[in-house]
Amino acid sequence: MERTLIKKIFKDELVDQEALIKGWVRSIRKSKKFSFMVVNDGTCQGSLQIIIDADLENYEEASTLLIGSSVAIKGNLVPSGGRGQKVEMQGMAVEIIGKSDDSYPLQKKATSLEFLREQAHLRVRTNAFGAIFRIRHELAQATHKFFSDKGFYYLNSPIVSAVDGEGAGETFRVTTLDAKNPPLTDKGDVDFSKDYFGKDTSLCVTGQLEGECFASGLGAIYTFGPTFRAENSNTPRHLSEFWMIEPELAFADLDDVALLASEYIQYMIKHALETCGEELEFLVNRKGAEVEEGHLEMLKHVRDTPFIKITYTEAIDILNASGQKFQFPTVWGNELQTEHERYLTEKHYKAPVIVTDYPSDCKAFYMKQNEDGKTVRAMDVLVPGVGEIIGGSQREENYEKLVAKMDADNMDKDGYWWYLDLRKYGSVPHAGFGLGFERAIMYITGMSNIRDVIPFPRTVKNCDF
Ligand code: ATP
Ligand code: MN
Repeated sequence: MERTLIKKIFKDELVDQEALIKGWVRSIRKSKKFSFMVVNDGTCQGSLQIIIDADLENYEEASTLLIGSSVAIKGNLVPSGGRGQKVEMQGMAVEIIGKSDDSYPLQKKATSLEFLREQAHLRVRTNAFGAIFRIRHELAQATHKFFSDKGFYYLNSPIVSAVDGEGAGETFRVTTLDAKNPPLTDKGDVDFSKDYFGKDTSLCVTGQLEGECFASGLGAIYTFGPTFRAENSNTPRHLSEFWMIEPELAFADLDDVALLASEYIQYMIKHALETCGEELEFLVNRKGAEVEEGHLEMLKHVRDTPFIKITYTEAIDILNASGQKFQFPTVWGNELQTEHERYLTEKHYKAPVIVTDYPSDCKAFYMKQNEDGKTVRAMDVLVPGVGEIIGGSQREENYEKLVAKMDADNMDKDGYWWYLDLRKYGSVPHAGFGLGFERAIMYITGMSNIRDVIPFPRTVKNCDF
């Protein structure tokens, strides 16, 4: 007999027929005449209740199984009288596939998210993490569909790189040299010409520069891949390894990609609401959820409302007029700190905000310089609860201006010759952005720690599993 997924049983309300299900035992209640077993197979939020009659040949063994055991159960699907699911199963045969034991860490009593982080290999077997990772899957699918439908080509940008695409120095070095005894130059520095690639290389902090190359040929591309940053920031919003989606569009300016960014976020929200309604309901209503009341209504509103767009200068004016006391000064020219971003999105607008035209000194070297000589055509998309989920810009397409900026920032231009070439041969206005996939998942699910929306988080001093 072929296996039926529990998702299908609930969705099609299959009754009055036989089925074979396979999954993991979530709970068992035993009595003399029969037992109730609850089994989840990972395909949906709901678990199937199975009534196991004491007549069963292996009743004693089946009814004393421990939580976490895996089973295959054949039985009749019948309408359920109880609350909860509309269908349940009258078990006819229980095959025990893999037993669990009483040291299984996920016992029935509610376990905290912190505890579950230490059980990252098992936590996907809980309702909360099942929901999160099904949503994550759907948002990845939605990402490919959104960009592909709009004519963007999927680009696999490289993981190992010889340039620091952000110029921020937060890279992980890639080397095969012996750390204890590396070859040295005459000056006593490590001699990377003897290294595997013959130069100093690191894991990518962005795929943008390669994205610009491909946009300058295919017209429109997006990347969707792992990104590595040796950030020394132990915050609920930073990972050392995260996934980024980076569209890049030729013949486009900042306004074009600001609109693209808002449409993309709205598309993801729409898709999550359509495909993961039960998962979202579960997450926002679960015990201990730190989600704002009305989270799903908020998502629907954001899905249907154009985003607010202000300049950095306007943002500073709003902060200064707010009467709010901030820890960091709100002086023109300073970075916007998390407290400022939160004020704008959570108090002032209570909505996502796109902030544009930041002071050049706050932003990376490749951003298009404005006529005023002080600001660049950059944007950050800020959302309540999370803060920045997108950083983007129009790129400097003028060769002289870009070179002058790199010189002013004391950058070593050698490794960037190919990037500069784009400005020599048929340069066009172009723009793009990077969306942190985990930040978007946090925003949509209402989860408050980024470690809970990636399967196996890597952060400072933590690389288990
Ligand atoms: P932040 O100020 O929050 O550190 P950033 O300005 O360094 O972000 P960008 O370089 O603009 O971020 O990267 C683009 C997007 O990638 C960000 O908007 C964010 O969503 C995501 N991102 C950046 N760094 C991290 C990180 N360490 N962990 C998870 N996501 C990140
Ligand atoms: Mn950062």
